[in-house]
Amino acid sequence: MDMGIAGRSALVCAASKGLGRGCAEALAAEGVNVTIVARTAATLEETAAQIRANTGVEVKTVACDITTAEGRAAALAVCGQPDILVNNAGGPPPGDFRSYTHEAWTAALEANMLTPIALIQATVDGMIARGFGRIVNITSSSVKAPIDVLGLSNGARSGLTGFVAGVARQVAATGVTINNLLPGAFDTDRIQATLVAQSRASGRPVDEVRERRLASIPARRFGTSDEFGRACAFLCSVHAGYITGQNWLIDGGAFPGTY
Ligand code: NAD
Repeated sequence: MDMGIAGRSALVCAASKGLGRGCAEALAAEGVNVTIVARTAATLEETAAQIRANTGVEVKTVACDITTAEGRAAALAVCGQPDILVNNAGGPPPGDFRSYTHEAWTAALEANMLTPIALIQATVDGMIARGFGRIVNITSSSVKAPIDVLGLSNGARSGLTGFVAGVARQVAATGVTINNLLPGAFDTDRIQATLVAQSRASGRPVDEVRERRLASIPARRFGTSDEFGRACAFLCSVHAGYITGQNWLIDGGAFPGTY
């Protein structure tokens, strides 16, 4: 299917690895010129070179911490006004809810709520003016079903979800859609860190924790960044213009609800 977005521009945050990289690769495969952001220049440049070689699109890079005002300004200065914004950042550290400090909460809110909101504020009016825009926020299945060791994520991402629910409707008549993609368990560095934390918290070996996690997923496997990216590209396509304000779970059937 032609996604109808070739020649568009996208800002993809936290995209040198994992799910953000999957989104950047899938958008580039559709002919979208991408600006990718991550903190470590070497990894970022390696990813950019691979995307250029595979797709031939223009790939710009910004090595910065997207959760800071300076980082966001640098990213926007390089990419200009994007047609597509994919919001993403590292997830908060796991831990026992009793141990969360004010600083830990502030960092989680900056990364997983206030940064995506700031980038939406900075880009949405340009999209409205051009009559086309796609904003996808990578959140987490923890928004629908809390994960015990990820209280900071459960809380901060729910704040973003509430904000998006309102704004998506306010701009829905302008050609701009805003949706959230909720990953379940995907085979990235992040899932490994979560499994190790759950192993420590439960006293069970990591392999056992991993097997139990896999057994809890009807698909009996972790998702891939490519699968995630392709779903993102569809949400960014011309065909998804009537989908907005939604929270899409991509979790191999793990969430047990009917709706
Ligand atoms: P990952 O660790 O594989 O990749 C994270 C990417 O983000 C890397 O490119 C890293 O350089 C970049 N990054 C991290 N913090 C950044 C910052 N402050 N500024 C700029 N770049 C930054 O992680 P992932 O598995 O791809 O997860 C992406 C997001 O999805 C995270 O917020 C994670 O919590 C969430 N999530 C992941 C899963 C999963 O199973 N992998 C499940 C639910 C939610």
